[in-house]
Amino acid sequence: MSQIYNFNPGPAILPQSVLLKIKKNFLNWNNSNFSIIEISHRSQQFIEETMQIEKNLRDILDIPENYNILFCHGGARGQFSAIPLNFVKNFIQPDYINSGYWSLSAAEEAKKYCKPNIIDVRRLTKDKKIYIESTKFWKISSKNTYLHYCPNETIEGIEIFEEPEFHNTIIIGDFSSTILSRQINIKKYGIIYACAQKNIGPAGITIVIIRNDLLFNLNNKIPSILDYNLLIKSKSMLNTPSVFSWYVSGLVFKWIKDLGGLKIIEKNNKQKAKILYKYLNTTSFYKNYILPSNQSRMNVTFHLQQKNLTHTFLEQSEKYGLYGLKGHSIVGGMRASIYNAMPIQGIKSLIKFMKFFEKKFS
Ligand SMILES: *Cc1c(COP(=O)(O)O)cnc(C)c1O
Repeated sequence: MSQIYNFNPGPAILPQSVLLKIKKNFLNWNNSNFSIIEISHRSQQFIEETMQIEKNLRDILDIPENYNILFCHGGARGQFSAIPLNFVKNFIQPDYINSGYWSLSAAEEAKKYCKPNIIDVRRLTKDKKIYIESTKFWKISSKNTYLHYCPNETIEGIEIFEEPEFHNTIIIGDFSSTILSRQINIKKYGIIYACAQKNIGPAGITIVIIRNDLLFNLNNKIPSILDYNLLIKSKSMLNTPSVFSWYVSGLVFKWIKDLGGLKIIEKNNKQKAKILYKYLNTTSFYKNYILPSNQSRMNVTFHLQQKNLTHTFLEQSEKYGLYGLKGHSIVGGMRASIYNAMPIQGIKSLIKFMKFFEKKFS
């Protein structure tokens, strides 16, 4: 069999060099004589490690000094609750943009704690292609509140590249599946958060980047584990963190830094997505339903013209060494998640298989 590639949406592929480093140091981390999964999170050695990890993340994302970085429990869904819970004293009617499954899930969760104003920004062209209305036309309800949105809808494969800008509104972004895939201007956001298992590291840790001035007068009658001020005060160690996920995330940050940072990563990701969408454009055997301006660079969704062949496609692609291509059940079809760690050879191998399959069945 040829080389195996992992197209899973999350937990997802990690850089091979990172996996090898974990393996090499697994029984004796940093000359401690212990495995990283046996180390105390309160040990001087690990605390120093977390400081270096934070510094590297700050460098690659260019995070200004007036932002705190948290390493939390609870995944992205934890933040779906944490955000409205922390802010409910100040913002009772926040705006929630609906661009797909995850952004709508965040809004549904917020309904438990406040009265979100849900704004649907999905549109269809005459020939039934999905696109997202330009942020300039988003009908946000009111000023002086926060606006939650999701720049990459992992399930549908829809990405919003435009950065929303509204005066007197705090922009909050669920960057779970696009963080570290391209450069972003942190200063435009009040909060950016992302679970780890797409583009950062193993599941179990969630990164929250939050601007200092938002931390005043927050609701503190909430579970301590979701309380931003308590988490900042305890340096993300209010309780025992996922030491392993934190450590591996640090290795991934270092990998990005050594590659030359997000500029290089973004260039590679553009190139990878381009060749795959270009191929999809040349054939009617496969279909992608997203307008090019919103085609995700991380999650490429496609369907077979002959839908009854989907199962066969998935079966045969695995035999070919291409794993995790099954689309999410709510959209069906196929999805190739091509996060940072997916090498361009993986994309080429996928296209080769798709051509072969097309020839065989068309
Ligand atoms: C995966 C994902 C989530 C859910 O993350 P969990 O850590 O499983 O809660 C939320 N939002 C987006 C955009 C995602 O891709």
